[in-house]
Parts: sequence; structure tokens; C-alpha cells
Amino acid sequence: RAKEAGKNAFEIFSTEQSGDLRGRFELEGDLHYAVQRSELELHYQPLIEIGSGRVRAVEALLRWHHPRLGLISPATFIPLAEESGLIVRPIGEWVLAEACRQTVAWQRAGLPNFRVSVNVSPLQFGREDFVETVASALAFSGLEGRWLELELTETLLMRRVSESARQLARLRELGVSIAIDDFGTGHSSLAYLQQLPIDTLKIDRSFILGLDDSPQGGTRPLIQAMIAMGHALELTVVAEGVETEAQLQWLGQQGCDLTQGFLLARPQPAEKLGHFLQAGPTVNSLTGPSHRR
Ligand code: C2E
Ligand code: MG
Ligand code: MG
Ligand code: MG
Repeated sequence: RAKEAGKNAFEIFSTEQSGDLRGRFELEGDLHYAVQRSELELHYQPLIEIGSGRVRAVEALLRWHHPRLGLISPATFIPLAEESGLIVRPIGEWVLAEACRQTVAWQRAGLPNFRVSVNVSPLQFGREDFVETVASALAFSGLEGRWLELELTETLLMRRVSESARQLARLRELGVSIAIDDFGTGHSSLAYLQQLPIDTLKIDRSFILGLDDSPQGGTRPLIQAMIAMGHALELTVVAEGVETEAQLQWLGQQGCDLTQGFLLARPQPAEKLGHFLQAGPTVNSLTGPSHRR
């Protein structure tokens, strides 16, 4: 009978999709051990003030060095980590703890202070004990709350607004700030946006890409509106995915506060970023000499 069941099970997976499905299961199994086998690593990408060229924050971006498959993108394994719950524990907890630890290490090395920005999955944010997890990451590392920012998506925040507001208020008490990630791609109620205690708007990369689409428009009016709205709500506005000089120039002219993208700096391991940070401001002024790469 067992053999029979085994055969049926095999048949279920012997469809076109089977390779993918089996691959997913294997990957999910491997992900289980990724933290304890030290296969996860954080890379960090600077968020640079357009006016001064100073690094105001770094975003922690998760990388998985799979023993057989090599480097796997978070776009592939974050969904698996969410389906399996691993995104909460151990992965999410590890990311928070590691990002805080590394930031304290940079502070102790005498680098100018900047925030560290950590992506938070809806599954983490939805948990009752999430605020405690953040509080212990801060306490254990010794990082002050004001140097930590959490990135959430608008769809998550808008789904259950009153719960979100309560959770954000508790995080605020720790001194932690909140960014809305991928802004403009989800569903935002402008009324709710004003009510939620947030600090930063990150305009999604797709708008920055669309900036070059046509000489007289493309996404420009939308970006202008997002910057104006962000500033009216006294938020810091970040442009994600800035890849060209022309994009940076235009965003600076529009008063966008921070830029994050391959033009000025790619995500990189902590050690490499340390060297980048030691070298000082990247941009003297928008009209000044060309940027250091
Ligand atoms: P995100 O939070 O929107 O992060 C920005 C993504 O854009 C990163 O991709 C970054 O490498 C990429 N990027 C930055 N500048 C440029 C640019 O100029 N051009 C282009 N083409 N891309 C740029 P990455 O590292 O592959 O991460 C993808 C997504 O995975 C993140 O999007 C975030 O949603 C998620 N993620 C990453 N790390 C974590 C984590 O620790 N926890 C959770 N829950 N999600 C994470
Ligand atoms: Mg992010
Ligand atoms: Mg983003
Ligand atoms: Mg994005």
C-alpha cells in the first residue's frame, strides 16, 4: 500500500510543473537550515541625500548563498520564507538582529551616524510579539531606536488600518521610524496616510524607470505629485532605483530628498560598504564635478 501511495504521489508530481514544485520543496527545506548554516548575509545599499551627498541611511537587503545553487535572489526565496513561516523565525529575527549589530559596529568604528533600514514582511508585522522582537534586537545590539527604520508596504498598512496604527505607535515609542516601501504601486488611502505615524516615502523604482519614457512627461507628473504630497505631510521622500545621471538631476530639481540606486551605489557586503562610507560624501552638488562611483 505504501508503495501504491508512493507511486500515486510520484504521479502527482510527474506533471510539467513537477520540477518546479519539487525544486520549491527542496529549496524550502534548505531554507530551514540557512540561518544555522550561516548561508544568509545582509548586503547594504546607501540612501544618499541629494543636496549634500551624505549617506543618511543604508537599506539591509537579504542574500542567500545556497551551497549548490549559488546566490539566490530574495524575490525567489522571500515568498518561500513567507509560505513556511520562516520569515518570522528565524529569518526575520536574524535580519533585525544582524542589521542592528552591524550598524553599532559602524558607529563604534567612528563613521558618521546613519540609519539602517530593514524590510519587514506582513507576516512579521502582523504578529503580537513583533514590537518585542524589535525591542530585543535594539537592546541586545545597543542600537538606539532612532537609528532603525522599518520598511513596510502601503497595501499591508492599509489592509487593517487601526491595527497598523496601533502597532506603529508602539514602534514609535521605541524611537524607531517607519518608511512606506514601493510607494505608488499598492493601494493607499490618502486620508489614512495622513493618520499613520510614518516618516519616509520610498517612491517605487517603476516610476523612476518611467521618468525617461517621453520627453514631455512619462511618470514625471506622478513623481512631482508624490514629492509634493510627501513634503506636505512632512515626510522624507526617497527615489528608489536611480540609475542615470539624468534621473538624479531631475529628482534633485524637484526637491526629492534622498536617492537610492545603482548610479551612486549598489547593495554590497558590510565590509565593502565600510570602505565606501569612509571615503565621505559622494556628490558635492548637483551641478558640481561628476560623482564618485
Ligand atoms: P525593496 O525593499 O524594494 O528593495 C530594493 C530592491 O531594488 C533591491 O532588490 C535592490 O537591490 C534593488 N535596487 C536598488 N537600486 C536599484 C537600481 O538602481 N536598479 C535596479 N534594477 N534595482 C535596484 P533585492 O535586494 O533583490 O530585493 C528585492 C526585494 O526583496 C526587496 O525590495 C524587498 O521587498 C525584499 N527583501 C530584501 N531583503 C529582505 C528582508 O530582509 N526581509 C524581507 N521581508 N524582504 C526583503
Ligand atoms: Mg525596501
Ligand atoms: Mg523598495
Ligand atoms: Mg521596490
